[in-house]
Amino acid sequence: MTGSCILIKYNGKQILLEIGLFQSSGILEAYKINTTKFKFNPKEIDYCFINHQHLDHQGLLPRLIKEGFKGKVITCHKVAAFFEPMLVNSSFIVDSEARMLSKKFKRDYSPIYAEDDVYRALDFVYEFDEYDKVYKLDDVVSFRWYRNSHCVGAKQLQLILTGQNDKTSILYTSDIGSTNSKNHFVENTEICKEFNKISIMESTYGEKSRINKKTRDFDIEHLRVAINTVMERGGKVLLPAFSFSRTQELLATIYELYHKDKSFKYDVVVDSKLSCDICDLYGEVLTGDDLKLWNKVYNWDNVKFIREKSDSMTCVKDDKPKIVISSSGFCTNGRVVGHLQEYLKNDKNMIIFSGYVGGDSSYLSYRIKNFKDHKTLSINKKPIPNRADCIMLSTFSSHASHDELVEIGSELNTEKIILIHGSNQAKLDLQKSMQEAISKKDKTTRVICSSKDMVVHL
Ligand SMILES: [Zn+2]
Ligand SMILES: [Zn+2]
Repeated sequence: MTGSCILIKYNGKQILLEIGLFQSSGILEAYKINTTKFKFNPKEIDYCFINHQHLDHQGLLPRLIKEGFKGKVITCHKVAAFFEPMLVNSSFIVDSEARMLSKKFKRDYSPIYAEDDVYRALDFVYEFDEYDKVYKLDDVVSFRWYRNSHCVGAKQLQLILTGQNDKTSILYTSDIGSTNSKNHFVENTEICKEFNKISIMESTYGEKSRINKKTRDFDIEHLRVAINTVMERGGKVLLPAFSFSRTQELLATIYELYHKDKSFKYDVVVDSKLSCDICDLYGEVLTGDDLKLWNKVYNWDNVKFIREKSDSMTCVKDDKPKIVISSSGFCTNGRVVGHLQEYLKNDKNMIIFSGYVGGDSSYLSYRIKNFKDHKTLSINKKPIPNRADCIMLSTFSSHASHDELVEIGSELNTEKIILIHGSNQAKLDLQKSMQEAISKKDKTTRVICSSKDMVVHL
């Protein structure tokens, strides 16, 4: 489900489709997987495509470069612009995790990569920005981008490969956004109508049980009522959110709810250095109507950006009612932990999750949400009563739903669809639904569930 990486070998060329960091609540497990020897020689890779910025799709780039990659990293400007802050932040996290493991197990765990490796990696990045255009990289490898609403700048890739006597192509959706996305600042997901021999699709929301009947309007009303209730009773609303994309989406949503309301006097605080840096970058990469809206959100009087740690501590102690958006979304690290330590014990406050909270109780976010089974939480080894209200917004996801994935898959013009980036159950459920939809359209496309290290012949 995480750590996307696909190797393609064709006519003497070796191409990587993304190089993601494996993310898990288990630090040792993640460390072991992220340091496992690559199943290819980085020195022999010609190109590494990156379709979007999430770390589970590009977070091992610095390690690839550290191990001798000499090729080109192919992406677009809107994606590349976020590499530096996100990867530098990631280098700090991998460093602190390596220290933690060394201390705990009394042996040397060296960090997966360092800040220097990030800066070296940036020199390998090439930006290609146009749609409806085939870019030729060499005599074998060409490509074209398709639009994707997953997040700002996200792309689907059509890789076109020329052999000695033949030609073939592969569609790689990477994480794919909803086809009728309600998120701000994104393109609309396109369905590629051209023939591709193989299409590789994500399946994060492939599980039948993940079908969500709620609409975005329902969620927005839920958010409005929650904020009003908590502000009236003098409490604080805390929204744990990832720095990239979700923070900005929540900010834009709250702006649209309240900017015309003169009686709304509460601060909306973004407390995370990385989130602030990413908010700044939105102003640099967005264009047209997206930029106009973002500038209004960014300059709204109620919004306060907290960059310094000391200001964050003052904000935690300050008792005025307010809304705080802080990272990380899983509450495993970042400044959100300081807010939780203070806010959880008071039932005037409310924690609002807007995304996946993790699948088990190793995630603090999961324990907060499942408060009936976790009445007291341990944070930084201190017992904290889990008393604050907690609600869940379920339509802010940046992934296409089960039904949309079925619709996209059954519309593709392709011989095989290979499902990746989902749990086994998600892949199996989606395979079944998609295969049925394909048969109804009298097509012969085969849907295949991938497994780790699976090899497919072109
Ligand atoms: Zn993603
Ligand atoms: Zn992903």
